[in-house]
Amino acid sequence: MYFAERVRSLRPEGAYAVLAKAQEMERQGRDIVHFEIGQPDFQTFPNIAMAGIRAIAEGKTRYNPSSGLPALREAVAEDVNDRRGLQVRPEEVVIGPGAKPLLFFSTLALVEPGDEVLYPNPGYPTYEAMIRVAGGKPVPVPLVEEKGFSLDLDTLEDLVSDRTRMIILNSPGNPTGGIIPPSDLERIAAIAEDHDCWILSDEIYSRLIYDDVPYVSIASLPGMKKRTIVVDGFSKTYAMTGWRLGYGIMPAELAERVGLLLTHSIGCTATFTQYAGIEALRGPQEQVERARAEFERRRDFIVAGLRNIPGVRCQTPSGAFYVFPNVKAFGKPVDELADYILEEAGVALLPGTAFGEMGEGYLRICYATSLTEIKEGLDRITQALKQLGIHRG
Ligand code: PMP
Repeated sequence: MYFAERVRSLRPEGAYAVLAKAQEMERQGRDIVHFEIGQPDFQTFPNIAMAGIRAIAEGKTRYNPSSGLPALREAVAEDVNDRRGLQVRPEEVVIGPGAKPLLFFSTLALVEPGDEVLYPNPGYPTYEAMIRVAGGKPVPVPLVEEKGFSLDLDTLEDLVSDRTRMIILNSPGNPTGGIIPPSDLERIAAIAEDHDCWILSDEIYSRLIYDDVPYVSIASLPGMKKRTIVVDGFSKTYAMTGWRLGYGIMPAELAERVGLLLTHSIGCTATFTQYAGIEALRGPQEQVERARAEFERRRDFIVAGLRNIPGVRCQTPSGAFYVFPNVKAFGKPVDELADYILEEAGVALLPGTAFGEMGEGYLRICYATSLTEIKEGLDRITQALKQLGIHRG
């Protein structure tokens, strides 16, 4: 069948492919430990779920403005201002069904055919997909393992040019859990100003940060708000992945354009979901902190376990719920290694290459699952890798 150029390069997300295979194995009676899916393992907090149910019962089930309910845009602006030290007005907030559409539509609104977009590699697969759909040229920027998987700024500086329309940042990052330190953000901000380009800052993991590392949004640096789009949402912070609710913070003029793209694509975001979102932001936040502390405990456990496996090198990620161990010592392409671990040990995880070619040599493990499962998964991976042996060539 003939397809338009803009969709020909689209590929499925690696996580879905591995999940499908793991589920097929489960149907055949295998017991599988799941480390592949990037979502919290606990339920949406009850006060939030009840707010959604109440909204449905009260008939809040009709269309609402494309860019979101004014009350939610206001609540988001307040929350963002409190946490990021910004001064955002509700007109600068756009609500969408998840963070993903805000990433995608901001890119569509700004990137023209031939424009170059710098993005982290390994990185969230949607970045490359949306750049290509917009007709832009994806320019991958590597990460530095030894610097906690921050962006390689020397390479970024070499790659940026007058053709660069946008630089995508993701901190804390998927798939590595890495954080871009404030000094690096300052350097990136200076580069963006010099080359007059946009920053698209995916901050979906902004509430999942460990070791008391301070959280800094690049939008809060002097002069940066006018050239930055901050994208965040409710999926990870409030365990609301299936509700579909996210937002973008951007200059009002751009917000209007993105709003038009929403008008003509999704129409609007589900109304009752947005009422749940208002409760999420305005209700108690202790449960967010409890979840964060629990993820930190799991992170410590899994990092220690991985470091005990001969041949595995593992950084301590400061955010999100992923670890990205270096398994180069086993001398195998990681898609084969991930397959071997699934078949041999019954543990589903992702090869780093599911996030771009620069993920070769790494595995991505999502630890958003119980400590019991993490322990079982670690034992199995340890066995399987010991059996394989370290490659000495
Ligand atoms: N950005 C990153 C880096 C993510 O990992 C995810 C979720 N996997 C998203 C965006 C999308 O989040 P949402 O569910 O809000 O669309």
